[in-house]
Amino acid sequence: MSAENCVIVGAGAAGLMAGIFAARGGARPVIVETKEKPGAKIRISGGGRCNVLPSVVELSDFHTSGSSHALRNLFATWPLERVTEFFERELGIALYVEEETGKVFPKSDDAGEVLDALLAATHAAGARIESPWQLERLERVAHDDGARFRLIAVDGRELFARTLVLATGGKSVPKTGSDGRGFELARELGHTLAPLHAALVPLYSADPRSAELAGIALRVRLRAVRGECVLEERENDFLFTHKGFSGPVVLDVSRHFAAPDAEGVRLLAHWLGLHRLDWDEHLRQGGKKTVGGILREELPRRVVAWLLARAEVDAERKASELSRERRLALLRELVDCDLVLAGDDGYRTAEVTGGGVVLEELVTKTLESRRVPGLYFCGEIVDVTGRIGGFNFLWAWVSGRLAGQSVARELAAKT
Ligand SMILES: Cc1cc2nc3c(=O)[nH]c(=O)nc-3n(C[C@H](O)[C@H](O)[C@H](O)COP(=O)(O)OP(=O)(O)OC[C@H]3O[C@@H](n4cnc5c(N)ncnc54)[C@H](O)[C@@H]3O)c2cc1C
Repeated sequence: MSAENCVIVGAGAAGLMAGIFAARGGARPVIVETKEKPGAKIRISGGGRCNVLPSVVELSDFHTSGSSHALRNLFATWPLERVTEFFERELGIALYVEEETGKVFPKSDDAGEVLDALLAATHAAGARIESPWQLERLERVAHDDGARFRLIAVDGRELFARTLVLATGGKSVPKTGSDGRGFELARELGHTLAPLHAALVPLYSADPRSAELAGIALRVRLRAVRGECVLEERENDFLFTHKGFSGPVVLDVSRHFAAPDAEGVRLLAHWLGLHRLDWDEHLRQGGKKTVGGILREELPRRVVAWLLARAEVDAERKASELSRERRLALLRELVDCDLVLAGDDGYRTAEVTGGGVVLEELVTKTLESRRVPGLYFCGEIVDVTGRIGGFNFLWAWVSGRLAGQSVARELAAKT
């Protein structure tokens, strides 16, 4: 069997982008994909609307255990404005910025439009998609025709490749095809993985009473802290669920609790309404008003009942009769509420997988492996995780394009 110039494993966000740019560079790539229909995660992204990009990006929107310098250089290869132009001008997708969140969506609010445009660009560039074709095993070979990799599918089919791009995604929502096999293959090839964990994931509450608040959404400032050290602080929408807590602000800080080094990390909530000093003043000067009444001026009734129960304060107690001890306990619940957690929802619903192939083992300029010549990585399989807001797709697009271009450059240099 003759060797393919380039095989890309995974027709998701990163793999399709790698295919487009590898093909445009003359590489004639074959993209193999487990699922019959490629891009399953793109189709369900953003609740079916596909938050294709953020409108503003900073390095602090991403997490990696690797060097931030490397990350900066990687994102510099395709600045956000250029990526946006690519989607608008080259793929022909009209985009808009959702004002309150800064997220960028297609004007059609249809993730299918993004996927269809990517697939059309993939085919137009000359990349071929083979699906279903699930990679099970990888071997390194050294054949006269330049083949360096033997790929064996679960059904025994084989492919030989001169260059190989692993774009197999993470472990989250495995029904989309990303079942984590790519991580094992990377490890088998000698790569080190930063510990894997569910990220952007709903959290479970250890307080059974919070289930009574399921469905209530409010604006919250959350802090992930270890001892006195604030690991992350974010303000955004928060949702009580039957099992605990969700909403963008919870998902954004969730990695601190789902990560392997989560020991000793606490989640503190400031239920927005008033600052500590203002609450203190309201309670001290509330006179004959009931404490419950004062809190209900700013917060939903059921949340107030829950907070009062936690602080052991009677809702009908007059503000003037509130002891100093109970007032301080209540203030703590209002601005430093310790949300004791009982785990997370895991890969079943996590939007992404934290950890993965460490950046140190990849050449920053090309995303080629430092361990295995001819092997490239892009997308979620790499140890780069974005927060909610289109950042994970941005990483998939940028890293996919870079890997695709690099493969094409390597092949062109050899002919
Ligand atoms: C519900 C949900 C909503 C999301 N919404 C957004 C959003 O709106 N905005 C945003 O920025 N991010 C969003 N994300 C995250 C985003 O989808 C991912 O970060 C992104 O898809 C990662 O791209 P990828 O190409 O690396 O992996 P994937 O898109 O997961 O693609 C990997 C592909 O590889 C294939 N594959 C895996 N193993 C093999 C194998 N052994 N052989 C062959 N093929 C294989 C898989 O079938 C899959 O098609 C969302 C995630 C989820 C789960």
